Amino acid sequence: MSVPVARSAAGVARQAARASLSELDERVCGCRACPRLVAWREQVAREKRAAYAGETYWGRPIPGWGSESPSVLIVGLAPAAHGANRTGRVFTGDRSGDWLFASLHRVGLANQPTSVHADDGLEVFGTRIVAAVRCAPPANKPTPEERDTCAPWIDREVSLVLPGLRAVVCLGSFGWDAALRSLASVGIAVPRPRPRFGHAVEVPLVGPCGDLTLLGCYHPSQQNTFTGKLTEPMLDAVLGRAATLGNSSTPRYPNRQRKRS
Ligand code: SF4
Repeated sequence: MSVPVARSAAGVARQAARASLSELDERVCGCRACPRLVAWREQVAREKRAAYAGETYWGRPIPGWGSESPSVLIVGLAPAAHGANRTGRVFTGDRSGDWLFASLHRVGLANQPTSVHADDGLEVFGTRIVAAVRCAPPANKPTPEERDTCAPWIDREVSLVLPGLRAVVCLGSFGWDAALRSLASVGIAVPRPRPRFGHAVEVPLVGPCGDLTLLGCYHPSQQNTFTGKLTEPMLDAVLGRAATLGNSSTPRYPNRQRKRS
């Protein structure tokens, strides 16, 4: 059966509703609801960066990736034009991903410290990674309309993985706002006024199975890592905290267990 293609905000909302996780991934990959972003992601895929001239770019939206029943959810902004938009896997093939996966490995949430391409053997443990907006935007800046058009995809994904979640790590204020909106949309009581984003800020929430903690983390973009605004110890502290929160529900992190023995 062919996968339906969303071509409007209403189409996204219709197709996200009641989709299973695998259906969601398929439908996200075919989405064409934002004309500006469709044009940009495909232009970048055609023109390419010189260093990747011999590669075939993915050039499509990027679905969530990782565990199907995570206890830790990581929410980023949007795919990078020559990163995930090239490789087809979230945070894979760019400097932000280099930082993120190296840290996930150090805290025991990934089996290897690098994320180079979609078939590189990378695994994450009890963790799922999503982007709030699923297509690479020009200058990494989706418009509010594009953000809202894309929201049903992440809202549905959050609703599907919510039962086992213990920690939601928000990379940057955009991810923070998106996570709060999605959690509210699936019935989680979010404080009013909404808590402000900050690095290492924690907001205790109540999920369907108990405690659920929202964690703020500076985005591992070069703008933050080159300037020292975000250091490796700072990133490890937040992701390590998420690993501890996640690990408190189900011991499923082989690296972490190995380190303790
Ligand atoms: S940003 Fe989201 S809604 Fe817009 S085209 Fe991409 S996947 Fe579809």
